[in-house]
Amino acid sequence: MKKFVYNFKEGSAEMRNLLGGKGANLAEMMRIGLPVPPGFTVTTEACSRYFKEGEKISQDLLDEIFEHLNELENATGKKLGAKKNPLLVSVRSGAPVSMPGMMDTILNLGLNDESVEGLYEATGDRRFAFDCYRRFIQMFSEVVLGIEHAKFEGIIESIKKKKDVEFDTELDDKDWEEVVKLYKELILKETKEQFPQDPKKQLIMAVEAVFRSWNNQRAIIYRKINKIPDDLGTAVNIQSMVFGNMGNDSGTGVAFTRNPSTGEKQLYGEFLLNAQGEDVVAGIRTPKNIEELKDLMPDVFKQLVDVCNLLEKHYKDMQDIEFTVEKGRLYLLQTRSGKRTAQAAVKIAVDMVKEGLITKEEAIMRVSPEQVASLLHRRIDPEAKAEIIAKGLPASPGAAWGQVVFHPDEAERMGQQGLKVILVRVETTPDDIHGIVAAQGVLTSRGGMTSHAAVVARGMGKPCVCGCDSISVDYSNEEFKAGSIIVKKGDIISIDGSTGNVILGKVKMIDPVLSEEFKELLKWADEKRRLSVRANADTPKDAEIARSFGAEGIGLCRTEHMFMAQERLPYVQEMIMAETGEEREKALSKIQSFQEEDFEGIFKEMEGLPVTIRLLDPPLHEFLPKEEELIVEINELKQKGEKELLKKKQEILKRVKALKEFNPMLGLRGCRLGIIYPEIYEMQVKAIFKAACRLAKKGISVYPEVEIPLVSNVNELKVLGEMIQKTAKEVMDEEGIKVDYKIGTMLELPRACLIADKLAEYAEFFSFGTNDLTQTTYGLSRDDAEAKFLPHYINQKILSEDPFIVLDRVGVGGLMRTAVDLGRRVNKNIVIGICGEHGGEPNSIEFCHEIGLDYVSCSPFRVPVARLAAAQAALKENMKK
Ligand code: PEP
Ligand code: MG
Repeated sequence: MKKFVYNFKEGSAEMRNLLGGKGANLAEMMRIGLPVPPGFTVTTEACSRYFKEGEKISQDLLDEIFEHLNELENATGKKLGAKKNPLLVSVRSGAPVSMPGMMDTILNLGLNDESVEGLYEATGDRRFAFDCYRRFIQMFSEVVLGIEHAKFEGIIESIKKKKDVEFDTELDDKDWEEVVKLYKELILKETKEQFPQDPKKQLIMAVEAVFRSWNNQRAIIYRKINKIPDDLGTAVNIQSMVFGNMGNDSGTGVAFTRNPSTGEKQLYGEFLLNAQGEDVVAGIRTPKNIEELKDLMPDVFKQLVDVCNLLEKHYKDMQDIEFTVEKGRLYLLQTRSGKRTAQAAVKIAVDMVKEGLITKEEAIMRVSPEQVASLLHRRIDPEAKAEIIAKGLPASPGAAWGQVVFHPDEAERMGQQGLKVILVRVETTPDDIHGIVAAQGVLTSRGGMTSHAAVVARGMGKPCVCGCDSISVDYSNEEFKAGSIIVKKGDIISIDGSTGNVILGKVKMIDPVLSEEFKELLKWADEKRRLSVRANADTPKDAEIARSFGAEGIGLCRTEHMFMAQERLPYVQEMIMAETGEEREKALSKIQSFQEEDFEGIFKEMEGLPVTIRLLDPPLHEFLPKEEELIVEINELKQKGEKELLKKKQEILKRVKALKEFNPMLGLRGCRLGIIYPEIYEMQVKAIFKAACRLAKKGISVYPEVEIPLVSNVNELKVLGEMIQKTAKEVMDEEGIKVDYKIGTMLELPRACLIADKLAEYAEFFSFGTNDLTQTTYGLSRDDAEAKFLPHYINQKILSEDPFIVLDRVGVGGLMRTAVDLGRRVNKNIVIGICGEHGGEPNSIEFCHEIGLDYVSCSPFRVPVARLAAAQAALKENMKK
C-alpha cells in the first residue's frame, strides 16, 4: 500500500518533492544529529489526493496519521489532549518549492479545557498555559474556521481596557482565562458550534485546512508570480511543540547564515525573548538583533553559530533557520536555502567558490538572471539634496519613488494605470503581495527584516524599507506622520532600500555600478557561454552603457529614433512633404549630416566591434502630426484668419490622409519604404559609409552591418542589396578608403523564415525580429493585444506566457529553427542573431542557444542578464549530455 505519512526519521533532503522543503529539511537535520523536536510529515501526494477526492480525507490516510501520532506520543512520553503532561503539536505547511508565509500554520494544537490544566501542572505556570490556549484557539479559528483576526484582537483590547493596561504582558492568568471564555463564546456565535475539544478532531481539521491553504488567494498569486506549478501541493508537518514563551530563558528567532541583503559572511537575524515563532515571522513585534543573544544567552548563541556553520557546509548554501530556545535549550524548527537580494546572491555565490564550497559552474547556476536584472537598479544620487523624514531598516536594496498609497488593492489599481506608487503599511503581511507586485517599493512602520513581505520584496528585487517606527500610519485618514510632517495619500516620497531612508518628494537617482563580485561572476559566465551578446542601442550614450556592461557589438541600431529628435523632425517632415526632387534632396542632405554624426558617435564607442544599422523601418506617417490634432489646429487657424500657416497645415493634412493606412503595421514600412522611396535608404547608406570611412581614416576599426527590415521577398533583398553595394562603393571611392562591411536582413515575417535559403544567397547575416515575427505568426497586434485580451488568455491559461515576453518556442521558434536550417544549408557561415525583445529574456535566450544562433541582442541594461543566461543555457546543455 502506498505510504502517505513519514516519520522525520525516515526522510532526507532528497525527498523534497514528496515531503515538501520543510519536511525534507527537518528530516535531514534530524539525520545529521541536530536538535529537532520529533514529528512526522503528511506527503504532498496526500494533498493532491485530497483535492482529487473532492476535498475529503480518506480513512486509510486518517489511520496512517493516527498511527504516527501514536508513535510520536510514545517517543515523547506525552499524549495529545491528556490531562497530565499533554503533548502539543504544531501543524505547518511545507511545499516542495519555498513559498514563505503563503500558506497556513497552527501552533499549540492539542489544547482543550482539560489539557490546558495538564500544561499548567507540567509547567507550574498558569498564565503561560492559558496564554497558549488562547493563542491556539485564535489561530485555529482564523485558519480552520475562517473567523476574522480583528474579532479576537477586539476581545483582548476590551479586557485591557477594563483593566486599564496597555500591554498584553500586563494581563495575568485570570485575564487569559477570561479571554478563552470569550473566544469560545465568539466561536459558538460565529459557527453555531462549540470549539472542538477532541484533539484528534482538531488535528484532522488542521491538516485539511493546511491542505486547503494551498489554494488560498495569496498562495495562488505567489505561484503565478514565481511560476510555480499549481499541482505540486503542500505537505503537512506535525511536530511536537517546544516553547519559546516560557520566560526570559526562552525565545524564538530566525537566523541567516549570511547577510541576506548584502551577502556578507556574518550571522544575521532576529529574535524575540519569551515569544512564540509566529510573533517573529508575522512581523507583529519588532524583534531584537541576533547579536544581542550573545550577551543574553552566550551558550545558546555559540551553539547556534556552530549549527549555522554546519548547516551551511552541509547544504553548500546560505541557510535561513528558524529556532526556538526553551528554558535555555536550543531547538531547530526549520532550515531552508535563504531568500536573498540579487547583490547577496552574487556575493555569496562568488565567495563560496573562493571558500571551496562550490564550483564556478554551480555559482553561475545559483544566480538567477532575472535577479541580476534588479542589480542594475537605480540608486539615490549621493549628491542629490534629499529631505530625509524617517529611517527604517534597509530590507531590500535599490531606490524608488512614487505616490503614497496605503492599501494593496489601491496600489494594484494605480499600478495598472501605469502610475508609480509606494505602498505604505503598518506591518508587512503576506496578504500585501498583490500590492507589492504593483508598487515600485514598500515602506512599513513595523516588522523586521525577515517579515514575509520584506522577504517577498527582496525576492522580487523591489526596494523595501521596513520597521520604520518613527512614522505613524493612519489608515482611516490615509496619511502618515513623520515627526511634524504629514504625508497624505498621493504625495510623492522616495525610499532607499539600501540605507532605510525615507525621503519627501522625488529625488534624483543614478544608474548602478557593477560590484567586483558581479564582474567576476560574469567573467566566469563569459568563459562558459557560446552565444555572443550584443546590445540594441541607438545613441552613442546607449552604446557606451552597453559596452560598459560587456556588449560585444550592436545587434540593432534603430535609425528612426534619430529621425524623431526635436530639431530634426522638421527636416524629416520636409522630406515627406517634398513635391520636387530638389526639395527632397535638400531635406535629405540635412538629415544625412545628422545621421553621419550619429553613426560616427556609435562606431567610435563600438570600436573594433560589429554595429548593425537598420535602415528606416516605420511607416512615414509616424513622423507627421496626428490627423485629429491637425484638424483642431486648422479650425483654430481658420478662426484666427492666419492664411499662410493654414495653407501649410492643410497641405500636411492632405499628406497625412494620403499616407493613412488601415493596418500600418502591415503597410508601407520596412524595406517597402526603401523600394518606394529609394533616396531615403540611399541617404542612410551614404551616411553610414561616410561616417565609417572618416573613422577608418583615423585608424579606428569599424564594422558596419547594413540591415534591411521587413523583408518577405528575395527580390526586395536583391534590389536593395545592390543599391547598398553601389552606394557604399561610391562613398568609399570618394573617400579613398575601404571598410569591411556586411549586408543582411531582419527575419521578422513568417515568409522570410520559410524562404531563408533564398535570402541567404544575398544576405551575410540574419537577425530575428521576434517582436514582428510574434505579431505576424500569431496574427496578434503587438500594440493592442497586451493591453486588451492577452491578460485574459493568460489568466484562463489558454496561453501560459505572454508571447511578446517569452518566446513561443513551438510556433515562432519553429519558424526560427526552419530559417536557421535553411539559411545555413546555403551559407554555413551566415551570422544569425536575434534582436527582438526576447533577446534579453532568459528562457528565450536558452532557446536561442539550443537552435544554434550566434548572438542575442538586447537593451543595454539587460546585457549582463543575457551574459549569465547564455552561460546557464550552455551549462544546462552540458548537464543533459
Ligand atoms: C522586431 O520586430 O523584433 C524588431 C526588433 O524590430 P522593431 O521592434 O523595431 O519592429
Ligand atoms: Mg520589427
